Amino acid sequence: MKRPKISIIGCGVSGLTTGIILLKEGYSVEIITEKLPDQTTSAVAAAIWLPYEIHPVELANKWSNISYLQFQELANQPKTGISIIPTKILLKDEEEAWWKSAIPKDSIRALLPNELTPESTCGYMVQAPLIETPLYLNYLLNTFHTLGGEVLIEKVEDITALSNEKELVVNCTGFGSRELLNDQSLYAIQGQIVQLKASDKVPCVLAEYTFGEKGEELAYVVPREDCVILGGTVVKYAEDLSPIESVTNGIVERCQNLVKEIKGLPLKNVVVGLRPGRPSLRLERDGNVIHNYGHGGGGFTVSWGCGLEVLNLVEGREGGQIQDTSSKVY
Ligand SMILES: Cc1cc2nc3c(=O)[nH]c(=O)nc-3n(C[C@H](O)[C@H](O)[C@H](O)COP(=O)(O)OP(=O)(O)OC[C@H]3O[C@@H](n4cnc5c(N)ncnc54)[C@H](O)[C@@H]3O)c2cc1C
Repeated sequence: MKRPKISIIGCGVSGLTTGIILLKEGYSVEIITEKLPDQTTSAVAAAIWLPYEIHPVELANKWSNISYLQFQELANQPKTGISIIPTKILLKDEEEAWWKSAIPKDSIRALLPNELTPESTCGYMVQAPLIETPLYLNYLLNTFHTLGGEVLIEKVEDITALSNEKELVVNCTGFGSRELLNDQSLYAIQGQIVQLKASDKVPCVLAEYTFGEKGEELAYVVPREDCVILGGTVVKYAEDLSPIESVTNGIVERCQNLVKEIKGLPLKNVVVGLRPGRPSLRLERDGNVIHNYGHGGGGFTVSWGCGLEVLNLVEGREGGQIQDTSSKVY
């Protein structure tokens, strides 16, 4: 049977990962995108493997597990921007650790009482994939090109016209789907993060609970090669992309309480991004268009699982019948 040529809209982590999977499965693939990876929401992310603000949780867990195994493999390869690092996840409520089952048993342990903070009541030490977003997005883009994928810079205004012209379209436009499809169930989850000068003495620590009266303040510290990321905020329906100084000061203060090793590190940058929130992420086929968007705060965490689900839909398998990829490396 002749294989369709596939046109993916979007060049963030979702579009690139999906593109690589389809190319490796022998399809001819092009990406049509308004912006290149370094200008996307994906470039703003911290990023650490942890499903966050992503629904439904059962599928998020399944796709997170598949991605975890792929990231483990990528961590063994040079220059991918992926490494596995000890990550302390602090909780106030054990039920918030719904993602636990997505982690291999030998990569997670409960925290000891002396490892907790005054605010937390429980938590886990996880061997978590760290995704150095500038390096990783570059790695994905290079891999996509090396496999023969083409990238066209163009904003798609009319997806129906495009789908009439192309054989098969995969929509990976993230928050852009609100305008492209008039999908009003998509909402912004604004996040501000602070970048400090890099240091190899800083541990990775995430508080999985909010601070402040409105529950819009977070505290997490992610040590990357190029900087230390301090997070953050989680403000639903806010769409402004300008950093606010008082918010920066609050983030630094909360993170210093969490990780004393960041004290004195010089400020490098402050950035704001919009997580593509949706009551349920959209991964389904509608005629010759497959949608893969609305991954909230976990787009990297579920990226490989979602890309493989797109492959299922391309090949006409029932949704949810994801092949076992634990032995297959993309
Ligand atoms: C502060 C912050 C921290 C985060 N931390 C993490 C983390 O630690 N771990 C994690 O897993 N996730 C994290 N996330 C979430 C993650 O960044 C997103 O879920 C993910 O980037 C979504 O990727 P995407 O490829 O679907 O969308 P995007 O990265 O937004 O890419 C969308 C692409 O579609 C293109 N596009 C849009 N509309 C059109 C159009 N009409 N025509 C053509 N092209 C179009 C854009 O130009 C872009 O190339 C974080 C997000 C933020 C903001």
